Order: sequence, then structure tokens, then C-alpha cells
Amino acid sequence: MTQVKKFWPILTGRHTYEKTLSTRGRGQGEIIKAPILAYLIETSQGRVLFDVGCDYQKISQPKQRELYYEHEGFPFGPPEMSEEERLPNRLQALGLKTEDVDVVFCSHLHFDHAGGLCEFCHAEVHVHTLEMQAAKESADEAYFASDFDLPLNWTLQTGEYDLAPEISAIETPGHTAGHMSMLVELPKGKPILLAGDAADLMENINDEIAPGLCWQDNDLMAVESIRKLKTISKQAQVQLWPNHDWAFFQKHNVFPGYFE
Ligand SMILES: [Zn+2]
Repeated sequence: MTQVKKFWPILTGRHTYEKTLSTRGRGQGEIIKAPILAYLIETSQGRVLFDVGCDYQKISQPKQRELYYEHEGFPFGPPEMSEEERLPNRLQALGLKTEDVDVVFCSHLHFDHAGGLCEFCHAEVHVHTLEMQAAKESADEAYFASDFDLPLNWTLQTGEYDLAPEISAIETPGHTAGHMSMLVELPKGKPILLAGDAADLMENINDEIAPGLCWQDNDLMAVESIRKLKTISKQAQVQLWPNHDWAFFQKHNVFPGYFE
């Protein structure tokens, strides 16, 4: 009997930016729209949420928006996020409360992945030690200290591990220092390997091209992680999911439906 029961990709917002942010050195002058996603996994032991999107307050409150997004030091421009797309409201649409999430797994601590942590003070929050260290050092401009400098129930991880019998955390550094991907085995369908920002687009996977932002500009490390994910996906007929690919997302958006 499988432990994993259901899997939901959840749209939490959108971001529009130059494609070079997703494909290093490629796509100058080309503007793309990217989904900002979270993934909810229901198991017989509890619920795991992979990433939590942006902090709604930093987008909706004009003063905060100015402070965090509308200045020269932040080159990406503000994301868009509606009230409906806030995770507490997405969860409500599924008949759930934020307290019903037992574990939040942060692929990394960039603003569009860890901003919603303030909504999840009840959950155990998993992040890689190296990621927390880089975030605290503000290793790049996509870390907002107020997103993660919170008294949460943190569980710092140092390697690969199983969150549950069919949910595995996989180290994929490169985009950031302690980036993690996740392999989820489903009761019926093929397993899903969530690349996170190790691969924003299918193009990153197909062409083995690093994301625009790389930890200490180490794009080779990022490409190694893409190759690692591809190797895993070939071995066990796993579906490898990019994280910010609008066309890919649209094909897989079944909310409030789910994969099983
Ligand atoms: Zn990122």
C-alpha cells in the first residue's frame, strides 16, 4: 500500500521577466511569464507542502511592495498574486487549513519559494543547512531576510533523506547553495520528480542549460544537478517537472483536481 495518496500542483502567482533569468546567457530581450508554484502531497501519515510562494503582504501593500520589489536593487520586478492565490485560500478550496500541513519543504529560500512561510507557523519546516547559511549571508538579491528570519519549527537538513517512505529529498545545488529537489511516488501514475529551480523550464532540462542565477556563478554545478535529475528520471521512468514553465504548468494544472 502506498503512503502517498494525492498530489496537487498549486498556482500561487505569476512573474514576468527576461528569459535570461531562467536560461543563463540565453533569451536577452525576450520577456516570459512564469508560474510561481507550490505542491501539496497528501500521505497516510500527513501532508507535505513543497514551497510556499511569495509573501502576499510584500506584493499587496504598496509600501512593502516599494521596499522589496520596486527599486533598482531588485532587477526582477514585482510578481503578481491575487487574494485567491494565497496558500491559505488555496488550501481552503480543498477543505483544509494551514494547520493541516505537517511539513513545509523549502526547495530553497528565494522570495518566490519561501515568502509564504509566515502563514505556516504550525508546520515543521525543512531546509538544507547550506541554503539557510547562504540566505542569511544574502548570497543574492532574491533572498528577503524577513521571509525566513522567523521563529518557525525549523528542521535543518544536511543531505539526502526520505521525508516519508515515498517522498525523497534530493540535493541539487547550483541555482542556490543548498537547493533541494523532491521525488514523489504516486499510487497510480508515474513518479514525479520536482526539479524546483534546478530547472525552471523544459529547455533547461532538454538543453542542459543552467538557470540565470547561480550560486557563486557556478553554472557547472547547476548543470551537474540537471544531469543528476535526468539520470534519476531515466532510471525509473520518472516524470521530471520543471518549476517555472508556463506551458508545462498549463498542461498539468488540474486544481482543485489532483494526481494520484
Ligand atoms: Zn530561485
